[in-house]
Amino acid sequence: EKYVYDFTEGNKDLKHLLGGKGANLAEMTNLGLPVPPGFTITTEACNIYLDGGREPAGLRDEVSAHLDALEQRMGKKLGRAEDPLLVSVRSGAKFSMPGMMDTVLNVGLSDDSVAGLAAQAGDERFAWDSYRRLIQMFGRTVLGVDGERFEEALEEAKRAKGAATDVELEVADLKKLVALFKRIVSDGTGRDFPQDPREQLDLAIRSVFESWNTDRARLYRRQERIPGDLGTAVTICSMVFGNLGPTATSQGGGTGVAFTRDPASGHQGVYGDYLQNAQGEDVVAGIRNTVALAELETIDKKSYDQLLSIMETLETHYRDLCDIEFTIERGRLWMLQTRVGKRTAGAAFRIATQLVDQGLIDEAEALQRVTGAQLAQLMFPRFDDDAKRELLGRGIAASPGAAVGKAVFDSYTAIKWSRSGEKVILVRRETNPDDLDGMIAAEAILTSRGGKTSHAAVVARGMGKTCVCGAEELEVDTKARRLTVGSTVIEEGDVLSIDGSTGKVYLGEVPVVPSPVVEYFEGRMHAGAEEADELVAAVHRMMAYADRRRRLRVRANADNAEDALRARRFGAQGIGLCRTEHMFLGERRTMVEKLILADTDEEREQALGELLPLQKKDFTELFEAMDGLPVTVRLLDPPLHEFLPDITELSVRVALAEARKDHNENDLRLLQAVHKLHEQNPMLGLRGVRLGLVIPGLFAMQVRAIAEASAARLDAKGDPRAEIMIPLVGTVQELEIVRDEAERVIAEVERATGTRLKLALGTMIELPRAALTAGQIAEAAEFFSFGTNDLTQTVWGFSRDDVEASFFTAYLEKGIFGVSPFETIDRDGVGALVRSAAEAGRATRPGLKLGVCGEHGGDPESVHFFHEVGLDYVSCSPFRIPVARLEAGRAAA
Ligand code: PEP
Ligand code: MG
Repeated sequence: EKYVYDFTEGNKDLKHLLGGKGANLAEMTNLGLPVPPGFTITTEACNIYLDGGREPAGLRDEVSAHLDALEQRMGKKLGRAEDPLLVSVRSGAKFSMPGMMDTVLNVGLSDDSVAGLAAQAGDERFAWDSYRRLIQMFGRTVLGVDGERFEEALEEAKRAKGAATDVELEVADLKKLVALFKRIVSDGTGRDFPQDPREQLDLAIRSVFESWNTDRARLYRRQERIPGDLGTAVTICSMVFGNLGPTATSQGGGTGVAFTRDPASGHQGVYGDYLQNAQGEDVVAGIRNTVALAELETIDKKSYDQLLSIMETLETHYRDLCDIEFTIERGRLWMLQTRVGKRTAGAAFRIATQLVDQGLIDEAEALQRVTGAQLAQLMFPRFDDDAKRELLGRGIAASPGAAVGKAVFDSYTAIKWSRSGEKVILVRRETNPDDLDGMIAAEAILTSRGGKTSHAAVVARGMGKTCVCGAEELEVDTKARRLTVGSTVIEEGDVLSIDGSTGKVYLGEVPVVPSPVVEYFEGRMHAGAEEADELVAAVHRMMAYADRRRRLRVRANADNAEDALRARRFGAQGIGLCRTEHMFLGERRTMVEKLILADTDEEREQALGELLPLQKKDFTELFEAMDGLPVTVRLLDPPLHEFLPDITELSVRVALAEARKDHNENDLRLLQAVHKLHEQNPMLGLRGVRLGLVIPGLFAMQVRAIAEASAARLDAKGDPRAEIMIPLVGTVQELEIVRDEAERVIAEVERATGTRLKLALGTMIELPRAALTAGQIAEAAEFFSFGTNDLTQTVWGFSRDDVEASFFTAYLEKGIFGVSPFETIDRDGVGALVRSAAEAGRATRPGLKLGVCGEHGGDPESVHFFHEVGLDYVSCSPFRIPVARLEAGRAAA
C-alpha cells in the first residue's frame, strides 16, 4: 500500500486520493510551474486513521522517506537549529471545503530553530513573527486552545505599543508575545508547546485527519451534498514566505489570490487580491485589506508578468476558469494552489459559451460546466431599478441575488429568528467557519471587511446565497448589535436590502423584479435583442445545446390555462399532471359538499350534473392552451373529507347552535358526514381510485367532461390530446373496472357528438404494490406516470406531510440521508421500484409511455436518474421546466 505521493508522482486526476490541493499541486509541478517541493498523504490513510483511531502501519516510515528526500532537495533539515526547513501541513479533500478543515503553517520552528530562520532570512523580526504564528495556529487547531486567547494577547500587545497593525510590532514585542503564547498553550493544555519538529509534524498531520469530522465540516458537507466517507488528504509543502519584510522593490514579497477570469461575470482580465508582506492565510481570512491584483504590476513587474503567463498556461491546460493562490518570496513567484474555480451562476453560463467560442471545449462539455441549480438561481428576482431606495453603502459584489431581511449580528440570532419565520441578513465584520449555521439560516450575508476571496464570499457563493463583503464604510459593532454608516444607525431587526450583483446595500425594503432570464423564458425578451445581456444570450445557447441532446421530454404539472400557457412558454411539451382536485376548491366546494351529503341517487346526480359543465369548461380551456400537446388529466385523488369543514370547528358550531336551540339541519347532516368520513390515516384511506369505485358517477362525470371538452375542441378545429389518468391504483382489477366505465362513457360522447375521440387511459404508479405488479397493470394501462411523492411516502412509510418537520433534521444530521428523499429520488429504494416497474410494464406492453409527475420530476439529480432508467418524460412545476430541460440535456450529453 502506498500512502504518500511526491508532487512529482501525482496528477490532477487523483483528487479522490490526493485531494484537490495535492492533485493540482502535482499537476502544476509536472507542468514545470514554480511549486515549492512537497508531498501528499492520501485520503486512504486518513480513512484508516478515522476508522481505527491510529495511523496505518507504514505511514510513519513513508513520511520519513519523503521527508528525507525533501530535505535533501532543499539542502535543509526540518527544524534544524542552524538553517531549518519549515513546512506547511494542509488539508485537502476531493471536493473543496473552503476553510472547513485544518491547516498549519511554519511547522519546524522552535526555540532553537527560530534563530536559524532569522539568520537564513537575514531578518530577526520575520523569524519571531513566524514563530508567533506557528504557536497561535498550532495551539488553536492542533492543540484545541481557544483562539480568542491568542487574539486578545496580540491585541493587548498592539495596544501596549500603540501599534495599529501587527507589522509595527518589533522583535522584542514578538519575543514577549511568543513567551506569552507558550504560556497560553501550557495553561490551556497542561503541556508545553512541542519543541521536537517531527512531533509537530506528526501532530499536525493527525489534526488534519481529525478535522475531517469536525461539526462545521460535517455541516458543510451536508449542505453541499459531499459524501461523508471521502476523507481528507494532507499536503506537506516546503514553506515559502511572503512576509520577509516590507519593501516596495522587487526584493519584497507578498501573497495573493487570482482568478483567470472574473468569477462574477466570466470576463477575461486580471482579477484577484494581493497583500504585501503577508502569509497566505491573511488574504483568505480577510483579516487585512488587500489591493487589487493589477497593482502588482507596479509593485513587482517581473512576478506580475510571470503570473499572467502562468494563468494563461493554467486556463488552457484546465480548459476552465482557475483560481490560484501564490506567494512572492523576495521577488520570486511560487504557486501554492490552483483549482478549477468556483464561480457565480451567471459566470458559469457565460464562461461555458466563451470556452466553446474559443474552441477549448465542445457543446457537450459546455453542458457539464453548468447545473440546473445554477439556472434556478438565475431565475430569482432582482431589485427593481426604478424603485426609490436609500443607499447605505457599497461593498464587493461577492455572490449575486437580491435579498431583503432584518439585520442580525450573530449566528445564534440568525438561526433563532429564521426558525420563527423571519427573513434575516447576517451582518458581521468578517465571517469565519463558526458562522456557518448562521449563514445557512440567513437570506444574505453582509460583511465590512474582506475581499472576493474572503471566507464570507467563498462560502456564500458555494451556497448560492446573496453576499456583499468588504463594505468598508459600514461600521459593524457585533457586541452592541448595531451597524453605523456615517450618522445612520441600524439596530438589530431593522430591514436591509442587499444586492449581491452590484455590492450595494440599501436601508429598508427595496421591491424586487423578475430576472432577465425569466423575462427571456417568458418570451418578453429575445436573446438577440438589445436589452438582452450576455447572460441571456448564454442561457439561450445552453438551452439549445441541451434541447438538441436530451432524450427525456419535459412536461408540466399544471391545472389551469394560465399555468399551462406559462409552462408552454418555458418549453413544456405537454401537461404531465393536471390535479383535478384543484378545480374543486372555492365556490365549488359546496357542490362537492352536496355530492358527499347526497342520500339518494337523484341528489347525487343533481350534484354531479352541476359539476359537469364546470369541469368541461376547465378542460376545454386547458386543451386549448395546450393545443397539439398531450394533457394528462388525473381523476379526483384526495380523501373527500378534505372538501368538508374541519371536524372541530363544525362540532363547536353545531354545539353552540344546539345550546341556542337553533336547529340547523344542514350542519347536522354535514357533521354526520364529517364523522363518517373521518380517517386516522387519510393518506392511506378513501382516496384515489377507491373514491371512484365507491362514489357512483364521480369518475364517469369527470371522464364525460374530458370527452365532451375534447369533442368541443375538435369541433373548433383544435387538436386536443387528453390522457386520462387513474390515481393510487394498487391492483389491475381496480383499473379494469374504471376502464370499462370510462370506455362506455367515451363511446356515449362519441355517439352523441359524432366524433372519434382518441383518449388514452393510464395509471399512476404510486403504491409499492402497483410497482411490484406493474407487468399486470400494464395490461390495462396505456401509460404509467410514476407518482414518486406517494411512492416515497409508502415505500419508506414516511408521512409526506409530517416528517420533514418532525425528524428529518435529525436524520440529516445523523447522515442517514444526505437530502430528503421527497426532494431527490432515493435511487436504491424508491428508484429500484421505478426501474423494475418500468421494465415490467414495457415487457407487457412494448411502447408503454412512461413518465414521472412527483416533485422529483424537477429535481436535477433525479432527472438524471429518470434519464438512466429510460422514462419518456418528466413532469414538474412550470418554473422548474427550464431546469429540467437543462438537466435532461446534461444527462444525455
Ligand atoms: C405523487 O404522488 O407523486 C403525485 C404526483 O401525486 P400527488 O402529489 O398529487 O399525490
Ligand atoms: Mg399521489
